[in-house]
Amino acid sequence: MKIPQFKSFVGASDYQALEKVFENNYIAEGPYAKKFQEELLTITGSKYGCFASNGTLAIYLALKALNIKPGDEIIVQNITFIATANAVEMIGAKPVFADIVSFDDPTIDLKKIKITPNTKGIIIAHLFGTACSNIEEIVTFCKDNNLILIEDAAQALAIKNAQGHCGTFGKIGTFSFYADKTITTAEGGFVVTNDEALNERLTYLRNQGRKKSGTFIHPEIGYNFRITDLQAALGLAQLEKLEYIISYKQNLFKSYKKYLGDKVTFLKVREDFTYIPFRVVVFVENAEKVMKHMEAKGIEPRSVFYPLHKQPCFKDFGLTDEGFENSIECFNRGICLPTWIGLTEEQIEYVSKTLLEAI
Ligand SMILES: *Cc1c(COP(=O)(O)O)cnc(C)c1O
Repeated sequence: MKIPQFKSFVGASDYQALEKVFENNYIAEGPYAKKFQEELLTITGSKYGCFASNGTLAIYLALKALNIKPGDEIIVQNITFIATANAVEMIGAKPVFADIVSFDDPTIDLKKIKITPNTKGIIIAHLFGTACSNIEEIVTFCKDNNLILIEDAAQALAIKNAQGHCGTFGKIGTFSFYADKTITTAEGGFVVTNDEALNERLTYLRNQGRKKSGTFIHPEIGYNFRITDLQAALGLAQLEKLEYIISYKQNLFKSYKKYLGDKVTFLKVREDFTYIPFRVVVFVENAEKVMKHMEAKGIEPRSVFYPLHKQPCFKDFGLTDEGFENSIECFNRGICLPTWIGLTEEQIEYVSKTLLEAI
């Protein structure tokens, strides 16, 4: 049996959606983008939102709209995809890493945050299909310390509780529609905010410093972060399948839980938030060894994110492991199990059996 880590869930309905865009004879950002934008605002409950070319540029655009500048420091959760930190670097600001609360709960540990006169904000990442477990404390901490809260919700579309949707708890939130996210447009990003003035800045920045295309008078300096109607139509077709995707992924999780029981530690997940496993993540004593065994049996497991403070590309920061113990344990123990639409009960049983063999 060969079981890949991930397979995109695209097919006939997505293809038909693309055909319609061609029939319309309008492939750049247009009517489908407007409809997709409206639907995303309904799902997130956010007042305003605009597209970016991808999730990385969505974070960049957010930081740019917030006027983050070279010399500023932005606190970044030490376990997240590298893009979260690289968007800060792209602005010219300095990402300052903070450890997570425990190996099975990759949310920022507020006790590990070092605020300096240059600290402007915090980027948290809602990872693996659940919300940061201490989101309320993070919101309060940012208010108390006059810091801007930016939420990287790339993996958190449709994840919400009674208080709100991921990406809307702080000043600004970003999403990604990359191939392996909950819904995909191949590449694509979205930025949400409830702040009218900030939305105006976002609108200018993403479309050459003007509110609408078709004019050559540019009140502000701006760039091109647009998407295409091909992507938007794909996004709308994907949203049609969202309920199916959610229940399929939740069932995958139940099956893994049934086979693995208490022999592994599962990712800590808050009950009050929707849980849509981006990947089912488990923690074992020695992830590297277990993954080797799984690979030998035709399974493609994946590690969790490598701690940012250890990244070769950030070696110039001169950081040591001190103060990052939980991130290190998270990496040493974490395994992302194959999680995708179409994965069968038999395959889940095989993955689980192989994992248990290894431990
Ligand atoms: C995917 C992802 C990104 C980057 O999004 P792209 O669309 O691939 O640029 C950023 N942060 C997290 C947590 C992600 O999972």
